[in-house]
Amino acid sequence: MKALIKEAGGWIDAAKRVVVLTGAGISTDSGIPDFRGPQGVWTRNPKAEKLSDIRYYMTDPEVRRLAWQSRLDHTAWSAKPNAGHEALVNLERRNKLHALITQNIDELHQLAGNSPERVIEVHGTMRKAICMGCGLLGPMQETLDRVRAGEEDPPCRTCGGILKSATISFGQALVPEVIERAMRVAGQADVFLAIGSSLQVYPVAGAVPAAQSAGARIIILNAQETPFDDIADAVLQGSISELLPQICGTVAPAN
Ligand SMILES: [Zn+2]
Repeated sequence: MKALIKEAGGWIDAAKRVVVLTGAGISTDSGIPDFRGPQGVWTRNPKAEKLSDIRYYMTDPEVRRLAWQSRLDHTAWSAKPNAGHEALVNLERRNKLHALITQNIDELHQLAGNSPERVIEVHGTMRKAICMGCGLLGPMQETLDRVRAGEEDPPCRTCGGILKSATISFGQALVPEVIERAMRVAGQADVFLAIGSSLQVYPVAGAVPAAQSAGARIIILNAQETPFDDIADAVLQGSISELLPQICGTVAPAN
């Protein structure tokens, strides 16, 4: 394992364009539970999945009421970036981070200090609310304030439409331009680093073979096995917040 960490770190040292893909696993050390893992929210409470299903959400006011309550209580509001997120900030400071594709909706990469323009949020963000009627976007906390003040299912103030977090729910289409950008940057990588993702959700998982066929080295860092372990140049299984700082290196001290 030590030799493998060193080798992967060497590829990153030599790289000019590292493209990173992160999934829920990088945020679990910040106290945000993984939805699909063994201890995942959906694994333990299948009913919670209804709250994230666009069909139930759009047709059932009770589902929306419950969804707003669960947004109020979300662990992300008090979560702080961990050493794994910080390692990726370090990668950007070393001028190696070409793009950071994330399946996470918690914005912990931006909070850690990665430039927002480098972060590609394929599943949107929970820190904004969107109107399903007119498409208006606003800060999530403003809408949560209305829920706290007693509105159980606050409507859009512009058009009266249904509000929702600006995330991609089950049954909802991904944003084509966002996915196209993710695939394009994957094809520009010299090292592709997949972190804390089960790599089972398409089309995003397809970024791994896309990067490889364009010539990138593939490094997979995850607590569990992934379907791409066999084609990866290095597979590191273990704690992301411990391993990632070791392979992302340190910033050279300023002279
Ligand atoms: Zn509206």
